[in-house]
Amino acid sequence: DERKRKAAAVVEEVERAFSTPTALLRGIADAMVEEMERGLRADLQAPLKMLISYVDNLPTGMEFRFRFGGNGNVGLFQIGYGALMDEHGLFYALDLGGTNFRVIRVQLGGREKRVVKQQYEEVSIPPHLMVGTSTELFDFIAAELEKFVRTEGEDFHLPDGKQRELGFTFSFPVHQTSISSGTLIKWTKGFCINGAVGEDVVAELSRAIERQGLDMKVTALVNDTVGTLAGGRYVDNDVVAAVILGTGTNAAYVEHANAIPKWNGLLPKSGNMVINMEWGNFRSDKLPLSEYDNALDFESLNPGEQVYEKMISGMYLGEIVRRILLKLAREASLFGDVVPPKLEQLFVLRTPDMSAMHHDTSHDLKHLGSKLKDILGVPDTSLEARYITLHVCDLVAERGARLAAAGIYGILKKLGKDKLPNDFSQQRTVVAMDGGLYEHYKKFSACLEATLTDLLGEEAASSVIVKLANDGSGIGAALLAASHSQYA
Ligand code: ADP
Ligand code: MG
Repeated sequence: DERKRKAAAVVEEVERAFSTPTALLRGIADAMVEEMERGLRADLQAPLKMLISYVDNLPTGMEFRFRFGGNGNVGLFQIGYGALMDEHGLFYALDLGGTNFRVIRVQLGGREKRVVKQQYEEVSIPPHLMVGTSTELFDFIAAELEKFVRTEGEDFHLPDGKQRELGFTFSFPVHQTSISSGTLIKWTKGFCINGAVGEDVVAELSRAIERQGLDMKVTALVNDTVGTLAGGRYVDNDVVAAVILGTGTNAAYVEHANAIPKWNGLLPKSGNMVINMEWGNFRSDKLPLSEYDNALDFESLNPGEQVYEKMISGMYLGEIVRRILLKLAREASLFGDVVPPKLEQLFVLRTPDMSAMHHDTSHDLKHLGSKLKDILGVPDTSLEARYITLHVCDLVAERGARLAAAGIYGILKKLGKDKLPNDFSQQRTVVAMDGGLYEHYKKFSACLEATLTDLLGEEAASSVIVKLANDGSGIGAALLAASHSQYA
């Protein structure tokens, strides 16, 4: 009937608008490489900030490979050296993401023992603090940190007379002025706090810590991608890049210092510098922007910004699905004669709910149906409406995952790691991944990995490993706090 015909027409149009053929992804990866180069030259129009992290002393290592057994297994024996490996003592980290923040403490035992013990606590950020004042936000964080420090047990040791030290993982673009200072460039994700842009976030955090009467020094300020890269490299020498897919999305990688024209300081001893790409702000004519993306952007807290992030990350995927379902409800009465009022509400459909619906394997999609009931308040949905909803989740997740894979492929191209290495000593290339979207949304991560393999080709793909570096950013920040300790 007419209703079905309309629904099919909308779905077909979405399929067209959201399609990402491999050739398009290759073009996007090339555009990413071009924008990386532009950002490294500090071209004022460059969407990628390619921020210098002041992290230039990641562990490097020698590696020995051996074959054992008859099954072709390759054993790996690494001797790491360089910075980070020898760190000892108690260090704290604080990770301010987009949805949660975590406080972490680790007892580092040096090269042999590595992380002796770690504890953390996660607190979700009260939404009113994301749009309040920076003093309120930092006071809240410092108060949670103070509470956490009070629960420090016997198995953590701070030598007499020493001050506790902290690595601050801050997942927003910062113009770093040193490893332990930097000014906020802009807020992203759901944050919008007046007066904080241009301020030194370490100074603000330090003042809040002082107001809590806590004796602690911030010795490292790191982006979450940089923390994940450092934490990943600590356990695996072949990590060359880190990608976050959580509330937002971003990536960092190890660049040759002499390939950074805008760097005018001394060349670091290692010859390398970790670059925080701030890739969420990537944009290109090649990105398949649909009417839904444009409307989402227009109504967002940061219109015109973070275009790539808005197509890929956890904060937005569910919202894109909602917008498509709303169109289907309006134009094809997908959920009955009246449009469910809750479907009109911005961000009512969260990505974890989208993921739960997308993973429903029951023949009548009953879980998906009950999610729709919970979220939209529609008591019963037709089987057809549920199948269409599933298909929409699939289209939106697949596009996001494929675009993210194109970005990773771009980084690998920039590093010359997109071809099978001819040098046996450089067999593995590891990309450390973190973030709730990648960790929990299995169809998303599976699609990302399959797409990356497709882009690299089977042969080159065999040397590239994408691995979850869970909590890497917290450990990484603690490690960087340790290696930049005032006592070191
Ligand atoms: P942050 O990005 O705030 O630092 P996380 O890395 O923990 O924090 O990511 C949290 C985000 O991950 C959530 O905002 C959500 O978008 C996404 N997410 C969490 N759980 C799931 C899930 N089960 N399915 C899909 N996305 C999820
Ligand atoms: Mg995070």
